[in-house]
Amino acid sequence: MFDGIVMFSGGLDSTIVAHHLKSMGLRIKLVHYVLPFYSGIGFTHKSVCKAAESLGLELEIIEEGVEFASMMKNPYFGFGKNANPCVDCRIRRLIHAKTIMQNCGASFIATGEVAGQRPMSQRITMMNSIEKRADVKGILLRPLSAKHFPPTIAEEKGIVDRENLFDLKGRSRAFQLEYSKKHNLVHVAPAGGCVLTIIDPSNRFHELAKYSPDFGINELKLIAYGRHFRISDKCKCVVARNNSENQILIKLLEPDNNYLEMADTPGPIGLIRGEYTESDLSQCASLLARYSKEKNADFANVELVVNETIIKTVKVKPASDETCETLRI
Ligand code: SF4
Repeated sequence: MFDGIVMFSGGLDSTIVAHHLKSMGLRIKLVHYVLPFYSGIGFTHKSVCKAAESLGLELEIIEEGVEFASMMKNPYFGFGKNANPCVDCRIRRLIHAKTIMQNCGASFIATGEVAGQRPMSQRITMMNSIEKRADVKGILLRPLSAKHFPPTIAEEKGIVDRENLFDLKGRSRAFQLEYSKKHNLVHVAPAGGCVLTIIDPSNRFHELAKYSPDFGINELKLIAYGRHFRISDKCKCVVARNNSENQILIKLLEPDNNYLEMADTPGPIGLIRGEYTESDLSQCASLLARYSKEKNADFANVELVVNETIIKTVKVKPASDETCETLRI
């Protein structure tokens, strides 16, 4: 049984909220949402677990997947500056969190939001709109900015003491930094937005939506990894940047996917997505060779692997930097 749940990124604001509500004697459960890019591929979310542990609070981790991919196809409120559908993302999470709240007998959902802190999703009018669309009016508590919003049901009922909540507004972090220092809080370093707010993955997302509007979850996940190259309207190649990306790309393989690997030396693997011709295959192989130890060789052997079986070896000249630049998404 809990009094409330806190949507917990592990960052400064939600850590302060969780700490403060706990110090008010409330029974709090933390809920952390994991974007689909990091779902199901073996990440342990160590820093978030550590932050929760240091607060001494129970943590539930929700890994987002296909529903997130569907939302990305047509977010109701559109995208922010890059490929970040922040408003829809928040609504989706709040709707989900409401179910968790109900299931654990709690009466409010608290967030680390501060009115006016972020340009799009934390303007007061937008915050009200999000609240309405997620149907969490009266149960959504923003302890850091509570005084700028009407009292929630939990405050009205005296479950949460409104007098003990804050009235922060705007972008300054001075209060939060002081609070954190005073209470020696452990939190995740501020990231300033998710991978969808970063220009390169965003470009890869918009390119994916253009060429494969019916993209699936694995194609969406891929935008966060590797070097992407557009080979033709129907074919794309993704080359891993390091060994850990090799492991991730393998996990994102689908049954009919082919991949390339160097035949004679360890190196990156490359996924081929979509339909390809023999000449597309050679192009992908030469891109892979360019990012291998054999990049300066006259020729390199690259293997095509399908369903874990090497079905062909292609001999190619590693691609030039100009070619890579031209094809890079
Ligand atoms: S920054 Fe990313 S995770 Fe955060 S609300 Fe926006 S889309 Fe969602």
